[in-house]
Amino acid sequence: FESKLPTLGNSIFSQMSQLAAEQQAINLSQGFPDFSPDNYLLQRLAYHSQHGANQYAPMPGILPLRQQISKLVTRCYRRSVDPDHQITVTSGATEALFVAIQAIVRPGDEVIVFDPAYDSYAPAVKLAGGSTLHLSLLAPDFKVNWQQVAAAINPKTKLIIVNSPHNPSATVFNDDDWQALQALVCQHGLYCLSDEVYEHMVFDGAPRLSAHCYPALAERSFIVSSFGKTFHVTGWKLGYCVAPPVLSAEFRKIHQYVTFSSFTPAQHAIADTLAMQPEQVSGLATFYQQKRDQFVTGLTHSRLQLLPSAATYFQLADYGAISNLPDVEFCRWLTIEHKVAAIPLSVFYQKPTGARLIRFCFAKTPVTLNQAAEVLCQL
Ligand code: PMP
Ligand code: GLN
Repeated sequence: FESKLPTLGNSIFSQMSQLAAEQQAINLSQGFPDFSPDNYLLQRLAYHSQHGANQYAPMPGILPLRQQISKLVTRCYRRSVDPDHQITVTSGATEALFVAIQAIVRPGDEVIVFDPAYDSYAPAVKLAGGSTLHLSLLAPDFKVNWQQVAAAINPKTKLIIVNSPHNPSATVFNDDDWQALQALVCQHGLYCLSDEVYEHMVFDGAPRLSAHCYPALAERSFIVSSFGKTFHVTGWKLGYCVAPPVLSAEFRKIHQYVTFSSFTPAQHAIADTLAMQPEQVSGLATFYQQKRDQFVTGLTHSRLQLLPSAATYFQLADYGAISNLPDVEFCRWLTIEHKVAAIPLSVFYQKPTGARLIRFCFAKTPVTLNQAAEVLCQL
């Protein structure tokens, strides 16, 4: 048997969460909250599952949810998107990313991705018969060099995948970045896949920018988000894709035969919560900024050197003052010997940089964050 993805094993997230469980370590590796979602959301889930919403949802998602997504996009980015022709609800952002890539990439096409890159992009491109061209972003600021991107574009280039706010670096694109991306996409007739799953977690009052804010870019983009992140329910696997009608039509052809539709009671519960408690979304940045600040303050006397975390629920740390181990080995050592699990950064690069960087997830209760900080300060 010849695998289509011969070099792939279990994801680093599965590996580290499993090791953390075996070692009974504090798990700051895989990104997920260790606290419960909001009660209202859970009540609406129970209500809808007890009141008949247990069969297939419409293929593009229930209309009330698509209407709420449309309002949210307008509220956040002043863009008007049509629930009937531009919004598709998916089984997590992961499905949306996969489907968008299958919709656009043909055998022989090239896709530009920026390393450190989220791990689901490259396998999806490969399954579509394309290949990825990796451009490295480096610590501490992980800035894209747009001239380098321009130079990398060639007749095979079809798609650019961007991720702002960025996992794992916790950086965001500024207006110059978005303008440069828009110019290249339009000039070369490319498409853009904009992974914005952390869109509501941007800290320190920084402007909230998105591909939605750039009309010419949005016309050629699939913009993907995740309710797993926004409502602390990563296990519900509910996300969505916004794209112009022509791209959405193609997207839906594929979504129709990947999952057809997504978990019905959760669609209702989230539609109700977006309608009745919009502050759950608007308050998310403050909520996670407090967690970041608690974690950072807890590490004041640590030998870990923290990089700025401008967004997401991740914090990068340089452990060079503590150890010379490569990052994968350092993370295993930290989990086994000190009972705190983190994610090594090198796994997100095609060409590892040799940096001594690890990623912590701070979507955790104050107790968990304090316990972890206490251990980390003793390293
Ligand atoms: N993109 C990025 C950058 C992510 O961090 C994640 C979640 N870890 C996803 C996509 C996938 O989101 P979901 O859980 O909704 O499939
Ligand atoms: N997105 C999560 C992270 O970055 C992991 C999701 C997964 O395990 N597939 O930690």
